[in-house]
Amino acid sequence: MEIVLRCSSCDASYDGVVPRWQCHCGGYLDLSHDVIINRQEILSGPNNIWRYRNCLPLDPDASIITLGEGMTPLLNIKGFFGKAKIKADYLMPTGSYKDRGSALMLSQLKAWGVEKIIEDSSGNAGASVAAYSSVAKIDADVYIPAYTSAGKALQIGLYGANLIKVEGTREATTKAALEAAVSTFYASHNWSPWFVHGVKTLAYELWEQLGFQAPESVIVPVGNGSLVLGLAQGFSELLFKGEIKKLPKIYAVQTAACDPLTRAFDQGLDTAVPVIKEETVAEGIVSAEPVKARGILQAVRRSGGSIISVEEAEILKSLKELIKLGFYVEPTSAVVAAALLQLRRKGIISAEAQPVLELTGSGLKATDKLLEYFKF
Ligand SMILES: [Zn+2]
Repeated sequence: MEIVLRCSSCDASYDGVVPRWQCHCGGYLDLSHDVIINRQEILSGPNNIWRYRNCLPLDPDASIITLGEGMTPLLNIKGFFGKAKIKADYLMPTGSYKDRGSALMLSQLKAWGVEKIIEDSSGNAGASVAAYSSVAKIDADVYIPAYTSAGKALQIGLYGANLIKVEGTREATTKAALEAAVSTFYASHNWSPWFVHGVKTLAYELWEQLGFQAPESVIVPVGNGSLVLGLAQGFSELLFKGEIKKLPKIYAVQTAACDPLTRAFDQGLDTAVPVIKEETVAEGIVSAEPVKARGILQAVRRSGGSIISVEEAEILKSLKELIKLGFYVEPTSAVVAAALLQLRRKGIISAEAQPVLELTGSGLKATDKLLEYFKF
C-alpha cells in the first residue's frame, strides 16, 4: 500500500515505511493513501471499524490491534435540544471515541515493530492508548496533567502503562513528554496522522448507518481537533469517491473557558488566538495551543459550519438533561447539546433539522469530577 506523508508547513513528503511522527521542519504530517470503497464488502465485514479496512492506511498483511471498537448506536432523539441524532461513541471499549484512533495507530506502530512509546493526554486518549498498547504488547509511558480525573488515571495505570503525572498546565504535560521523546517514539494522538484516519471511521459509520447518505450536519467537541479532522478526512474521501454529494456541515464546540479556536474562527484567522485558560468542567477539550489549529479552522470553514463556545453553566445544565435522557456521559460530551440549543436559538439550525450529536466519553470515568458539581 502506498502511503504519502506530507508536511502541513513546508510541503516535504515522506513514505510511511519508517516510524515518523513529525516533519524535519517541526510541522505536523498529513497522510494520503488509496481508498477503496465497496459497499458489499463493508456490509459483510466485521461489526466494528475494521469493516472499513480497505479505506484505512494499513498494510493488508498487517495484524490489527482491536478490542471490537466502532459501530456504536445512532439514535433518533427528541430532547431538550429539539430533534437530533445521538451518536453514542461513549460506548466504546475504553469509554471514549478515541478508541477509533488508537486501534489504527497501535496497529501501525506494531507493524513498524515499535516496542516502546510515549503519549500525553488529558485522560481519555491516554486510557485508550494504554489499553491498545497493552493488547499490542508495546510498553507505554503516558504523561497526564496532575489535575486529570482520578478515574481516568486509574484506568491508564490498570491497563499497565507507566503513568507520569505532571504539575501545571496541559501544555506543561506535553512539554515533559516531548523532552522524554528524544529517545523514545512519540506516539501522540495529537500528532499521528494514523490517529486521524482511525477517527475518520466515524464519518464512514454515519454514512452507512444513514443508509449510505451523509448527515446534514455533525456537532462535535473540539480541543486538539481529532474529531473535526477525522470527520473532514472521512467525508472528503466519500465525496471524492462519489459516495456523497456534499460535505456535511461541521459545528465544533469549545468551552468559553478555553476557546482559542472560536476566537480565531470569529476573527477570520488561520492560527489559534492565545487565551488565558479558566477552570472548566469540560476537561477533555482544554487545549490552549492546538497543534493542528490551521487544519481544524480550514476543515470547519470548508464544511460550511462554524466553531462556537458554550458557557460553564450551559454545559452543566445540558449534562444533567442528557443524563436524564439516559446518556451517562462525561461533562465534556455535554458541550454538543449546549451548542445545539445555542445554534437553534440563533436560527442557524432549524427546528426540523436533525444534526448528529457526537457523544464522546462515558460519565463512569468522571465520577470524581461529577461529585464536585452534583450531590445526592
Ligand atoms: Zn515540514
